Amino acid sequence: MNKRDLLIKLPKVDDILNDIRIQEIMEKFPRVTVVDAIRCKIDETRKLILNTSNDNLDKFEIDLNILVDDIIGVIEKENQMKLRKVINATGVVLHTNLGRALISEKVLKDLSEVASNYSTLEFDIDTGKRGSRYSHVEEVICKLTGAESALVVNNNAAAVLLVLNTIAKDKEVIVSRGQLVEIGGSFRVPEVMLQGGAILKEVGTTNKTHLFDYENNINEETAAILKVHTSNYKVLGFSKEIEIEELCLLAKKFDIPVIEDIGSGTLIDLSKYGLTYEPTVLESLSKGADIVTFSGDKLLGGPQAGVIVGKKIYIDKMKKNQLTRALRVDKMTLIALEATLRLYLDENQALNNIPTLRMLTMDKEKIREKAMVLYDKIIKEVSKFIVEFTEGYSQVGGGAMPLTNLPTFLISLKSSDLSTKKTEELLRYNDPAIITRINDDKVLLDVRTIKENDFDIIVKALRAIENRR
Ligand SMILES: *Cc1c(COP(=O)(O)O)cnc(C)c1O
Repeated sequence: MNKRDLLIKLPKVDDILNDIRIQEIMEKFPRVTVVDAIRCKIDETRKLILNTSNDNLDKFEIDLNILVDDIIGVIEKENQMKLRKVINATGVVLHTNLGRALISEKVLKDLSEVASNYSTLEFDIDTGKRGSRYSHVEEVICKLTGAESALVVNNNAAAVLLVLNTIAKDKEVIVSRGQLVEIGGSFRVPEVMLQGGAILKEVGTTNKTHLFDYENNINEETAAILKVHTSNYKVLGFSKEIEIEELCLLAKKFDIPVIEDIGSGTLIDLSKYGLTYEPTVLESLSKGADIVTFSGDKLLGGPQAGVIVGKKIYIDKMKKNQLTRALRVDKMTLIALEATLRLYLDENQALNNIPTLRMLTMDKEKIREKAMVLYDKIIKEVSKFIVEFTEGYSQVGGGAMPLTNLPTFLISLKSSDLSTKKTEELLRYNDPAIITRINDDKVLLDVRTIKENDFDIIVKALRAIENRR
């Protein structure tokens, strides 16, 4: 066939529009999107014909079915959600780049029911009058933590900012030099202090801060003592920091409040389940902290939020601060947070239904069984990979428990015809993307963070990699 005949054979936009599969996809996507994709494909094919040398024209085929396949592929790819599901095979449970804490399925039910209907967001059923959006979640927070009062804002960074701005504007806040933390590059204690309008009074040294360091720096300008949990690092060796009880006793003598930013804000003592000890909210309050702040989407396993708990006199002031409006959370957050917190009313229910806790506390034997299921599926279906079953470690992530390695089982993959980097890349280009890590020139899959429902997707992706053109 010559170029002219091929060009004549090229279908017109209308021919393709009449295809039954294109008709179907028109119900899902706007007509212009579909027509644009068809035009593009026809133009592309026309150029291909024109650029093909005459010797190769014989092999050139125009197959309407293949054209339609390609067009549908392009439409679906270009119109999929940019913010979308990925499969986390890294074993990092609170993976900050992959969305930190997963929302519990149980919580999703409440989220869908309440968010897609009118709700009691700012309505008091008993009085028929305007209510407060914060009251619903405040009740359950106080019940779980023993706090007098609570307030929820956008994230823990906002919580610390609001606390400082309310309690310590233009006044001094004492912080140990060992606790001037940076979290994730954007939360830095000295900077938050500045933004909040408070004056940072740093005391002690990087490795050691004594009680007298605090005491010697208290004066008329002192508004509070701030203790920051060093969530993402530990000062080890010749080091000393003052426990919250002692700080509170000192502060009481001078009648100033103690603020504790505990970061992760776990409500359960996770050391019972073999994890590193992290201060719980209840503990911090019962040891005397006046105000405690923590994140909703770290170890708590809820939506992104910052929770402030503590004495009513302080929280009431914060509620009236103009900043609170700017840091206010949406109903989606409030619903998800309340529903997550309600799971904590029964510890077992929390452990079983909150994905973060379930993944972190999963016992080693369970992980071995889970990994074995995936391993068996993979070895049955692939032939161009060396597949091994090995032991290794998962990470907590989210800047929590930095020194903790959680024993896990891994499946390692080494392709016989692709580099490890290429294998990692092709898994990442899969839909949904499969995010893995590389170690010792092998791609590793850690089942701790993979849902069992996704096993077949992984197997299919590996097969597609083997069979790619
Ligand atoms: C994580 C963390 C923050 C920041 O919390 P976000 O909810 O991410 O804003 C602040 N302080 C400490 C100690 C933290 O661990």
